[in-house]
Amino acid sequence: MPSFSTPTPTSRPIARIWTVLRQWFDTAPIEGAGITADHGIDWLRVLPFVALHVACLAVIWVGVSWTAVLVALELYVLRMFAITGFYHRYFAHRAFRTSRAAQLVFAILGASAVQRGPLWWAAHHRHHHKHADTERDPHSPRRGFWWSHMGWFLSRSGFQPDLSAVQDLRRYPELRWLDRFDIAVPIALAAGLFALGLWLQHAAPQLHTSGAQLVVWGFCISTVVLIHVTVTINSLAHKFGTRRYDTRDDSRNNFWLALLTFGEGWHNNHHHFPGAARQGFRWWEIDLTYYGLRLLAACGLIWDLRPVPAGLRRLGRG
Ligand SMILES: [Zn+2]
Ligand SMILES: [Zn+2]
Repeated sequence: MPSFSTPTPTSRPIARIWTVLRQWFDTAPIEGAGITADHGIDWLRVLPFVALHVACLAVIWVGVSWTAVLVALELYVLRMFAITGFYHRYFAHRAFRTSRAAQLVFAILGASAVQRGPLWWAAHHRHHHKHADTERDPHSPRRGFWWSHMGWFLSRSGFQPDLSAVQDLRRYPELRWLDRFDIAVPIALAAGLFALGLWLQHAAPQLHTSGAQLVVWGFCISTVVLIHVTVTINSLAHKFGTRRYDTRDDSRNNFWLALLTFGEGWHNNHHHFPGAARQGFRWWEIDLTYYGLRLLAACGLIWDLRPVPAGLRRLGRG
């Protein structure tokens, strides 16, 4: 048994620091520190998340350019689509089919959004649907806004999900690797942006950008906005909006959240029939992710998009 799982009083602080440092880079379950119901915030473990927010303040020193803003926007769009289209509708709900290669490409894009790995994301989300707005929901706003928005994934209980819910995804070693070393892709993205900025600084000085500027805008600011907009679906879309369907939970349809999250704001529709590739059930319910998925289907990259059964769609109000 490793020494850190049964620490002596003198070794405990060192063991704790070692455990946390390891968890920053390698999320494999540590003996004696697996699934827990402890809802306390794990401040040491989430330091990189806090640092990501603080790093946005570096904009004071690196300044701004059109190039940096465009890169930040493009990365928001690409990664939001990867989260909603693939982490959510594909990995969590299996709402369509694709090849193993495309599955990996979109898992990597999803992992670049700094929302942990595909197994972690899908496992928590499947538990959410199974126990929505009950005691066992990982992030119900009935426990308070901040809990549903951030507390749940900053807590000790949010670190290791019950992976028995994602046995179908665990079959793929490449997904297990991405999930275990979930900081690898974000680090690669930040390094790539730094290299791109350095190159542009010399190759195209008229763009007035730099390595540090592209990291701050393209990685830090874009990622922080992306994370907070994504989790509004857990916090705000179970509180504010209209209910077309009498689902067992508090889910709502919210036009503004649907715009920002590329369709996820039609959350009451989604809880009514979670298996569909589409979340905007009416023609006027803008669902950018679904349009993107239709485009990928037209290119032959994905197929068998699951529709909403007509009978179920008609049941609701409005
Ligand atoms: Zn929900
Ligand atoms: Zn869902």
